[in-house]
Amino acid sequence: MPGTSLTQPTVRTVNTLADGRQLIYYDSGAAAPRCAVDERPLDPQTPGSEVRLDPATGDWVTIAAHRQARTYQPPAEECPLCPSRDGRLSEIPAEDYQVAVFENRFPSLAGPPAEPLRAAEGLWTSGPGAGRCEVVCFTADHEASFADLTPERARLVLDAWTDRTAELTAQPGVRQVYCFENRGAEIGVTLAHPHGQIYALPFTTPRTARMAARAAEHRATTGRNLFDDLLAAERAHGDRVVLAGTHWTAFVPFAARWPYEVHLYPHRRVPDLTALDAEQRDEFPSLYLELLRRFDRLFGAGRTPYISAWHQAPAGQRDELALHLELFTIRRTADKLKYLAGVESGMDAFVNDVTPEDAARRLREVAA
Ligand SMILES: [Zn+2]
Repeated sequence: MPGTSLTQPTVRTVNTLADGRQLIYYDSGAAAPRCAVDERPLDPQTPGSEVRLDPATGDWVTIAAHRQARTYQPPAEECPLCPSRDGRLSEIPAEDYQVAVFENRFPSLAGPPAEPLRAAEGLWTSGPGAGRCEVVCFTADHEASFADLTPERARLVLDAWTDRTAELTAQPGVRQVYCFENRGAEIGVTLAHPHGQIYALPFTTPRTARMAARAAEHRATTGRNLFDDLLAAERAHGDRVVLAGTHWTAFVPFAARWPYEVHLYPHRRVPDLTALDAEQRDEFPSLYLELLRRFDRLFGAGRTPYISAWHQAPAGQRDELALHLELFTIRRTADKLKYLAGVESGMDAFVNDVTPEDAARRLREVAA
């Protein structure tokens, strides 16, 4: 684990759940031994998803029909992400934890890649839904949200994301590691407990593939890196900058798709979380927590639903793609959501009713 000045060294403890899935605890400094045994009678899952390439667009699609039985908004006392306490057994056997990561019981993608990796039948290219889906619990506190975490705990989550990225990237057949959080029932979150997810994907995601093509074009025409130029231009222009530290800058992108959308880049370009240096790691928690808290202040009381997405370079494309985080909400006003309707869902063409400059101004106004 990367050494830190913000936290004590991170202790990583690997356990195995009753059905063979891995559970990993991350603790900051000394913690109680994490060795409680999962006593639930669980049958091993037999996931059987498939990935298919859309012959018309070149986009990969995952077909995961077996996930229909997954847990849907259970009452708080049956939360599978709370620690196991008072005779109630959850996904986490320990009585308490700091950060815990485990393999999803209902994964969209699972298992090692088969040989041959992909079969083509004329225009139809498909393969097994290999990879891994993990759940990241940010805290044992069911009622908290990421924005409530201390900088030390946010830093521990960053260490966990980094460790998972390193380990999953090294697995055979994994093309891209995607760490993300969906927050809020409006986004379709099925469990209220503060958590995120990690997908280790057997393909490059469509949005990343488009960015890689743009970066290659930019390199060919200018000789420079697209993301270096993009960040420098936003920092120089300043109108859309939301907040800036010594090592990171957050801005609303020029062509934002969502009413409130912020991209957070480290100033020194790196391909993924594993390449961040100690200073970048130390500064990240305070900036990210501030962004999340500003999102919550945008619409008055209550928690703003959001998606927070880490963009990391896929295998073989580490030279041009830049690690960054994209944070956005589907909320337009206190009582209106943006729905992906005909133009967006039908054509991937977004119509945004808030100008990016106004969104940035508003996000500066709600600073603490
Ligand atoms: Zn819970």
